[in-house]
Amino acid sequence: MKIPDIIIAIDGYSSTGKSTVAKMLAKEYSLLYLDSGAMYRGITLHAIENGLAEGGAIDEEGLRKALPTLGLDFRVTPEGNATFLGDRCVEKEIRSLEVSSLVSPVSAIPFVREYVDRKLHAFGERKRVVMDGRDIGTTVFPEAELKVFMTASAEVRARRRYDEMVAKGQTPSMEAVMKNLLERDYIDSHREVSPLSRAADAFILDNSEMTLHEELVWFEGLIKGKFGILE
Ligand code: C5P
Repeated sequence: MKIPDIIIAIDGYSSTGKSTVAKMLAKEYSLLYLDSGAMYRGITLHAIENGLAEGGAIDEEGLRKALPTLGLDFRVTPEGNATFLGDRCVEKEIRSLEVSSLVSPVSAIPFVREYVDRKLHAFGERKRVVMDGRDIGTTVFPEAELKVFMTASAEVRARRRYDEMVAKGQTPSMEAVMKNLLERDYIDSHREVSPLSRAADAFILDNSEMTLHEELVWFEGLIKGKFGILE
């Protein structure tokens, strides 16, 4: 199925499977996939590794100075899109529980959000992108042609994140994963700048009981209906 030159914005709670579905859509419809959470995670990793988050307290001035030389970027690698800091691929490191536990406070800092928004805009200008995050449909691309807000029960989300981490060779406890998830949900929904919320024109997808295939069928139906594609 061919689709018009659009931006698809997928927002929602942590571990609802946004990136999995976004990657599948990118492949299916030849779109560029952008993981905005990976950008916040890359910045957080840099803060941790450079002593800008000692004891969980973020050195905002230090971080502000570091941003211009961070070299944060997405590149296409044989394994798919990956996040880079300069020449270093950090795709694995940014998914650690340590980064997860600090990324929400880092992403609540207004100048960090401005920095990421500028980068996302530069990518989005060319259209044919699918982006996932927390504020893509509300703040970054309020004009996106298709917006979806994803949700699922906390139990299902914690189990998915746990399985994903174990598959990557990590050894988290289920309690720690659930705690991190609920904390991030809370901080993301209550921060002052661009809190996580559903855009009024976003379609809701609760995938607690759905397979990935069912989600894709749901998206296909939505896209056909919205853009009048008769196939
Ligand atoms: O999507 P992911 O779980 O990797 O995002 C990590 C964190 O980055 C989120 O918990 C949230 O704090 C932040 N984030 C954000 N705005 C976005 C994407 C992610 O604040 N658009």
